[in-house]
Amino acid sequence: MLGVLAAADVEFVEQPLAAGDLEGHAELRRHSTVPIVADESVHHRDDVPHLAEAFDAVNLKLAKLGGPLQALAALRTARALGMGVMLGCMIESSLGISAAVHLAGLADWVDLDGALLLAEDPFSGLAWTAGTVERPTGAGWGVVEVVQDTAGSPA
Ligand SMILES: [Mg+2]
Repeated sequence: MLGVLAAADVEFVEQPLAAGDLEGHAELRRHSTVPIVADESVHHRDDVPHLAEAFDAVNLKLAKLGGPLQALAALRTARALGMGVMLGCMIESSLGISAAVHLAGLADWVDLDGALLLAEDPFSGLAWTAGTVERPTGAGWGVVEVVQDTAGSPA
């Protein structure tokens, strides 16, 4: 399948095997021209050095790694090992997404759309347009809390 994906110009494949199957991922990587990216195999910055044989890149998620400083440390480790970096996210508010957006310039790929999956985002200030998200320029992370009325609806 990796050959088919390469012929279709697929940019990368994320976590095709189980999180603990590093040997399997390493074997896939040896036979693939499509970069193999770790997602579920990354839980902590200290995981990254153990993934350099099996993966071309890591998908770093601030909510999993423990915030922007832990993600930045993981990113620097990945770069020192010659790995690519994707910034990803969980389903989280614009507050969490904005923290990651501030690191986006350091990544090869950015997948920061989790707030768009929320029925009600408790923060506003991020704007996604045609597949891009702009780094907000306001104070702090650049987002503001949406004020709720007593019924829980945006005031
Ligand atoms: Mg994933």
